[in-house]
Amino acid sequence: MPHTPDPRAVIDELRAAFGADEVLAGDANPRYLKDWSTATGGTPLAVLRPRSTEALSRMLAICHAHGQAVVPQGGLSGLVGGAVPAAGEVVVSLERMNAIEAIDTDSGTVTVQAGAVLQTVQEACREAGALLAVDLGARGSCQIGGNVSTNAGGNRVIRYGNTRDSVLGLEVVLADGTVLSMMNRMVKNNAGMDLKHLFIGSEGVLGIVTRVVLKLQPLPQGVSTALVAVQDFTAALRFLRHAQQSLSGQVSAFEIMWRDYLDTAIAANRLRKPFATDYPVYVLTDMHCGQPETDAQRFEAMLEAAIEAGWILDAAVAQSVADAEALWAIRDGVAEILREAAPTLNFDVSVPVAKIGECAARVRENLARDWPQLKALFFGHVGDGNLHVVVCKVPEDAASVHAIEDAVYSVVRDYAGSISAEHGIGLLKRDWLAYSRSAAELALMRNLKHSLDPRGILNPGKML
Ligand SMILES: Cc1cc2nc3c(=O)[nH]c(=O)nc-3n(C[C@H](O)[C@H](O)[C@H](O)COP(=O)(O)OP(=O)(O)OC[C@H]3O[C@@H](n4cnc5c(N)ncnc54)[C@H](O)[C@@H]3O)c2cc1C
Repeated sequence: MPHTPDPRAVIDELRAAFGADEVLAGDANPRYLKDWSTATGGTPLAVLRPRSTEALSRMLAICHAHGQAVVPQGGLSGLVGGAVPAAGEVVVSLERMNAIEAIDTDSGTVTVQAGAVLQTVQEACREAGALLAVDLGARGSCQIGGNVSTNAGGNRVIRYGNTRDSVLGLEVVLADGTVLSMMNRMVKNNAGMDLKHLFIGSEGVLGIVTRVVLKLQPLPQGVSTALVAVQDFTAALRFLRHAQQSLSGQVSAFEIMWRDYLDTAIAANRLRKPFATDYPVYVLTDMHCGQPETDAQRFEAMLEAAIEAGWILDAAVAQSVADAEALWAIRDGVAEILREAAPTLNFDVSVPVAKIGECAARVRENLARDWPQLKALFFGHVGDGNLHVVVCKVPEDAASVHAIEDAVYSVVRDYAGSISAEHGIGLLKRDWLAYSRSAAELALMRNLKHSLDPRGILNPGKML
């Protein structure tokens, strides 16, 4: 744990080196106090808003010398409390380091500062004729540095991988202010250890990401989208295999929604029902196409074959971009559900793909047995083995929360699954990390933390 610093001395030294605008002290703006999770923190000592790597490096050197705890913040869309400050900690917000430095379509790279908002970078790349594959519902507020630090997943992992798979290079400032430049722009580089992977997904406990080189993909010329109704998870899995085989790996999203999720998302977002009849399970699927006309025909032929084989019960195929957006609004409607159903418990687990249906059924059974009054919504990214469960309007006492979490995580442990598929550990899942990681893994994580941050100033109390 960090030493107890003298808060006055920390502020005086930061203020002497930087202006009042870069070092906000006193009553913190409430927007720096919370992320999207239910985690609550305290009032920070200061909020630092550096404009450059060099400034951040000097700020961290000062905090390090004082043993002052520091919490990195991106777009604050995190769902596990990783960016929430405890009382007396110093927040480092990357919001002013948001430049898109270069888009190189010949090399297939985009270079950005960590505070750039994902959607802004996606749009700039699209204008330049390239695709940034990282995509998630929080695209309008999350930052690239946050995406890297959580190794964000999202809707296109089935085709392009997690954020990790799009990162070529990083610049990171270590706890003592050392700037570690690893701004590699090549896909192949086996010259020694690939250190960037230590920082991807490490939730700000090993260093602060300041710049990122991301890999670009060819821009799809069109997208075919359909919402498909199926009988159960086994049918969804059979349909996934069929779609992947028929479309030669071009499936770019394959999102499962059980009926309870779909109905709630439609009601919460006041959307139109896609089918006249209700079905038990739905799949929203996208195919990124190179040749829109012929590819759209292949997509429809694939759906017809699935209907004939009896694997799917019904399909609504988007005929326009507006249609596709209306179908995606159902899947992306989770933000509104989280608002309406608060307080919620949000589970983001993964198990081997073939086990998702079984795992979902066992979790549903556990919850219905012990908390019949609670509503639970099930959805997920089937191709990635990722299941999301939102338990609505949960009792807030610690004992009930713990018991509900155990009802879910003990099932996940039985399948040797992960208690966090994509959101990370932060504050809210720390107690459960040992369900998914061995004692030896945890010891190595702590050793790495100690060797990079011996005074323990970076995001203390998070993840480990
Ligand atoms: C509606 C909605 C939908 C979502 N959908 C998905 C989804 O599909 N897939 C998914 O993976 N996540 C999803 N999320 C969760 C969240 O958007 C991601 O975790 C995102 O990557 C967080 O980015 P951020 O910039 O908001 O980070 P923050 O919330 O600010 O921070 C997250 C963590 O990263 C650390 N951090 C932030 N910036 C830096 C930096 N520059 N250097 C070091 N550490 C840093 C913080 O300390 C914290 O531990 C969703 C969230 C919402 C609200």
